[in-house]
Amino acid sequence: MLPDHVDVAVVGGGQAGLATAFYLQRAGLTPGRDLVVLDAADRPGGAWPRTWQGLRLFSPAGFSSLPGWMMPPWDDATRGYPPRDHVVDYLTRYEERYDLRVQRPHRVTAVTRADDDPDGRLLVHTDHHLVTARAVVSATGTWERPFWPRYPGMADFAGRLLHAAGYSTPGDFAGQHVVVVGGGNSAAQVLAEVSTVATTTWVTARTPRFLPDDVDGRVLFATARARIEALEQGREHAGVGGLGDIVMVASVKDARERGVLEARAMFAALDNGGVVWADGTRQDCDAVIWCTGFRPALQHLRPLGLRTHDGRIPVGGPSGTAALAEPRLHLVGYGDWTGPASATLAGVGPSARATAAILTGR
Ligand code: FAD
Repeated sequence: MLPDHVDVAVVGGGQAGLATAFYLQRAGLTPGRDLVVLDAADRPGGAWPRTWQGLRLFSPAGFSSLPGWMMPPWDDATRGYPPRDHVVDYLTRYEERYDLRVQRPHRVTAVTRADDDPDGRLLVHTDHHLVTARAVVSATGTWERPFWPRYPGMADFAGRLLHAAGYSTPGDFAGQHVVVVGGGNSAAQVLAEVSTVATTTWVTARTPRFLPDDVDGRVLFATARARIEALEQGREHAGVGGLGDIVMVASVKDARERGVLEARAMFAALDNGGVVWADGTRQDCDAVIWCTGFRPALQHLRPLGLRTHDGRIPVGGPSGTAALAEPRLHLVGYGDWTGPASATLAGVGPSARATAAILTGR
């Protein structure tokens, strides 16, 4: 049963929504009475159950934890990089452990203002219910808005075009030639597994940056934080890599040993049967997999009229998450613009804590 009136409504029950609900509960709000978490999916885990089956985290379990409870260890021949299902299991148990009472499936279709009073209530509309709230935390992630760059000839291509968000297993591509687009961890991991059953061409907009074999996501998080702090203080910062740099998980190392980690510069266009390089030569292919990132899923906030041209809502205040033009709304977990490394398991905690502190005054 959904409550009709709550103090805080959290939209999205993935890791960002759970971490925020954890701190709101710790500050005294009771889930199901003062606090409601609404999630559009029909099962726990946020985006993780929808990622491809072979996905590995880029940091070990002990460095991929939400506030309060460490992710249980994962130890196998992969040096401890947990698979997707380990994360789904962790998030499922996390919300049970803290009795966060996530309401699903309930898609929030719109958030609106009850009236012109800036201290009035916000209305959270779902398909079948209306919940009123003193404040709303949006934690809807990016998975539902895959980013596709536009290239000439895309509409003419007779093969299969898919985004990493629609990729599941390499078996679908057995015996084919596949072009993988993108220079980050997703592209490297997809390329690594597809190349075990298909021939591949890897293309990237910039030269891919590989981390040394003994460096993993822990170092990336620390570096990302240090870089943002340095920027805020107007200092230069030169550290080991950024969050987009490629972590040498076992499958990617194996791909390197097989000689498939050789990237080419982006193609200029597609045609009916493949991709066309800048010099006019071409490569036949059966499929192009775009590992080209995501944009924030903020469609439900459109009625508030807060969007700017780059698809983001300006945020700030002491938590760094309050919408500047609508302080009753907070955005958690979308990327560095809503908090350093906040779009990661280990990085979302500080934004969630700061948001809960502002909303509860505790
Ligand atoms: P999500 O997990 O997307 O959860 C958002 C939830 O909101 C979903 O359950 C969705 O159903 C719900 N929702 C959306 N819209 C609505 C709506 N209108 N109404 C109600 N509910 C809604 N991070 C790491 O720390 N380590 C990694 O190794 C790592 N690897 C990654 C690999 C890939 C391929 C990707 C894409 C990301 C990776 N990340 C990693 C980054 C990050 O941890 C994930 O993107 C994470 O899923 C973000 O969590 P979230 O809670 O913000 O969003």
